Amino acid sequence: MAEQRVRAVIDAAAAQLSAAGVASPVVDAEELAAFVLGVARMKLILTPTMSASEFARFTALVQQREERIPLQHIVGSAAFGPLHLNVGPGVFTPRPETEWLLEWVVRVAPPNAMVLDLCAGSGALALAIAHVRPDVTVHAVELDDAAIAWTRRNADSRARAGDRPISLHHGDVTDPALLRELDGRVDVVVSNPPYVPDAAILEPEVADHDPARALFGGQDGTDVIAAMVPNVARWLVGHGVVAIEHDDTNGDRCVRLLESDGRFSGVSARSDLTGRPRFVVAERRRERGGSA
Ligand code: GLN
Repeated sequence: MAEQRVRAVIDAAAAQLSAAGVASPVVDAEELAAFVLGVARMKLILTPTMSASEFARFTALVQQREERIPLQHIVGSAAFGPLHLNVGPGVFTPRPETEWLLEWVVRVAPPNAMVLDLCAGSGALALAIAHVRPDVTVHAVELDDAAIAWTRRNADSRARAGDRPISLHHGDVTDPALLRELDGRVDVVVSNPPYVPDAAILEPEVADHDPARALFGGQDGTDVIAAMVPNVARWLVGHGVVAIEHDDTNGDRCVRLLESDGRFSGVSARSDLTGRPRFVVAERRRERGGSA
C-alpha cells in the first residue's frame, strides 16, 4: 500500500466517526492522526503524508473510536489545563468544564495556602493546582481502589517532572472521621464529585467507560455533595472558601445545601462556559462551632 495524504485520510475518518455519532468527528480524527504521527494536532499541516504502516495503525484507532471508546482512552491521556494526565479504564476522564475550578483556585488561593481536592480521580485538579501554584500545599482524597492507582501514577509522574508533590489520601469524603488533622486548617476546598442523577441517559463514552462510581450521585445527583458539606465546614479555616461542581439541574439545590448547613456565607451559583449552572462557591463563616 502506498503513502497516504493525511488530509484525505482525516476527512474520510471524520465522515466515518460522524456516522457513528461521535460528537466532534473532525477534531477526533485529527487527534488520532496526530497521535499516530507523533506530532501535535496543530502541527499536522507540516506532515502532509503518512506511511502505509501509519495508515494501518490509524485505521485501527479510528475503528476503536467508531466503537465509542473515548479518545482519551485510545491515546492514553487527557489534557487538563496545562497538564496531560494518564487515563484509562477505572478512572473518570477529566472534562474541560472542570478547568473553571482550576482557574478559580489559582485565583483565590492565598499565598502558601492549603488546598484540599475531594474526589480526585485522575488527580487532574490537584496536580494542575500544584503545577500552577508551587507555593500551595495540596491534599487530595480518592475513595476508589482502581481510580487511586491512576491518581498515584499521575502524582508520581508530576513529582518526577519537578512539581511539588501532593499528599494523597485513600478515603471517603463523606466519612466524619476523615482527615481530622486538617480540621480548621484548609484555605480552599475544591471538588468535582460524582453528581449525575441516577436516571440520566449518557453518551456511550461516558456510560460504558467512565466508572459509574465517579459519575452517579443518587436519585437527584446530590447524595455525595450533601454528605461532604459538613466535612467541608469542618476542614475550612474561617474565611476559607469552597467550590463544588454539580449537575446543571442542581444549581438551586446545591446553594440550599450549603446555606442550610449554617456555617457558610456568600453562597453563590456559577455557570459553565455553556451558561449552565455548574458550580457552587461559598465562604466558611469565621465563628467556629457556634452554629449547629
Ligand atoms: N460532567 C460529567 C458528565 O457529564 C459528570 C461529572 C461528574 O459526575 N463529576 O458526564
